[in-house]
Amino acid sequence: METSDDKLERRLYSHDLAPLPKEMDLIFKTTPDQVVRPQYSEEVAQMMAKAAATKKPIVPRGAGTWGLGGAVPVQGGYVLDMTAMNKIISIDEKNLVVTVQPGITWKALGDALDAKGLFLPCYPSSAPSATLGGWIGTGGTGIGAYKYGTAGDLIRDMEVVLPIGRTIHTGDKYVPACGGGPNLNWLFVGSEGILGVITEVTLSVLPKPEVLRATAYSFDDLSQLTPALRKLVRSDVEPMHIMYGDKVHFEYLRAVGKDAPDVGCMVTCALTGSKDAVDLEEKSLDEIMTSSGAKKMPSEVAEHEWSERSYEFRVREMGAGAIPGEILVPIESFEKVLAETRALVKKMKLKGPVIGTVADRNTVMLMPYYLTDDHNFFRTTLAMGFGKKLGDIAFENGGRPVGLGLFFAGNLNRYRGKEGAELIRRIKTLMDPYDIMNPGKVVETGTRFGISLPAVLMNFGMNMMAGMKGLMPRDKIGDKELAKLRK
Ligand SMILES: Cc1cc2nc3c(=O)[nH]c(=O)nc-3n(C[C@H](O)[C@H](O)[C@H](O)COP(=O)(O)OP(=O)(O)OC[C@H]3O[C@@H](n4cnc5c(N)ncnc54)[C@H](O)[C@@H]3O)c2cc1C
Repeated sequence: METSDDKLERRLYSHDLAPLPKEMDLIFKTTPDQVVRPQYSEEVAQMMAKAAATKKPIVPRGAGTWGLGGAVPVQGGYVLDMTAMNKIISIDEKNLVVTVQPGITWKALGDALDAKGLFLPCYPSSAPSATLGGWIGTGGTGIGAYKYGTAGDLIRDMEVVLPIGRTIHTGDKYVPACGGGPNLNWLFVGSEGILGVITEVTLSVLPKPEVLRATAYSFDDLSQLTPALRKLVRSDVEPMHIMYGDKVHFEYLRAVGKDAPDVGCMVTCALTGSKDAVDLEEKSLDEIMTSSGAKKMPSEVAEHEWSERSYEFRVREMGAGAIPGEILVPIESFEKVLAETRALVKKMKLKGPVIGTVADRNTVMLMPYYLTDDHNFFRTTLAMGFGKKLGDIAFENGGRPVGLGLFFAGNLNRYRGKEGAELIRRIKTLMDPYDIMNPGKVVETGTRFGISLPAVLMNFGMNMMAGMKGLMPRDKIGDKELAKLRK
């Protein structure tokens, strides 16, 4: 097992997708004492025993593509970089199950299945870098979720090393983990690395569909989507994936020289199945969309958009950072939430397009992202208040933000209610009596001093940051590029 005590390398593990100013070190010890790259479950168990014996924190990390600080230490300790545990253990073509180590990326797994005529039903759009363990750990929604569910729905079994040093299996390799008491697979989905380290995963997969076809439709504005969605979710049409982007998103893409349509908004759907079934679905989908005011886009545009599904933040090529927020809201709240999100972007003087997906027949996911100048840490830090305010909009409209991590742990009571949140805290204490497993996240916002920041203080701070950002001059990042494009 490879370990590193190198100062620079340890520093690289002190943040995830979101850059953190150095001043954060006054509150959090984000730099680990050691970076460890295990290759086998036994090595993870060894490290867990070492952490328990020394009472040092142990933080599992995949590719670090999440932005909520979930894989960032708050009290130093060991960071377990799981990306060296990236092997495919078996692909069982007869039983349609695959067993892998958790550090493999979703793309690598999808490609390996494709070569065998199999199909990975869902994955995050960050699939080229995001690991299986990381996405299971965050419990997010992603590509394929509309038709096939999320990662949790695919899991048959996992091997997990617990903080008390035991290694367990959470389900069964060939059959779903139902009817055997509480479903342990789901206990670890979205647990954000605070209950144990996932060291092996068995997923059920599908035979490759005969056809995967993308179709796309443009609207004058994203706010006009609701009637079309209302019809779609009540119909027999079941796209694998439904994603959308607004005018500003496509403008930014064109501003960095990418091939993107000049439309008010575009919805792209991916249909899967036999050729005949997909032909029929496409016809029904055309009728649903055009009768709701959409124009059908040429098939090359749709195919291109589908091929770009993992690269929605190409705006970074402008030299800007792009920080996404993510909320889930009922379809019926979409228009109101969109208007409030856009008003928030304006009030905080940010630059923010809105992209997202339809997560299931009841739910839309909105992922507004804003541009940051990573060299201006003051502005970037204040802008982090956007995620808190966006979450408030979701809660007020019957939805919720996605993920707690370090920065939004103060939301746990709002997610689950006081009693539900208390149960989660008790489960954490029961499974991790010495609080070594990724401490300071989800159930509390921990600090380097071992005391946690009260949720009211954290939320107050985030609100203040958002308010202060609104008092600053408007962000200019991206202005030049957009002006050139619009000339
Ligand atoms: C371009 C882009 C697109 C994205 N698209 C999506 C999307 O479509 N859907 C979505 O949900 N998210 C998306 N995200 C967010 C992020 O990429 C995903 O949540 C991703 O799956 C995280 O994987 P990771 O390997 O980077 O995990 P990390 O960021 O390294 O870790 C995430 C969490 O999981 C825990 N963890 C990691 N490995 C393990 C393990 N083996 N055992 C236990 N816990 C573990 C960590 O402690 C941490 O709390 C996107 C991000 C980007 C930058």
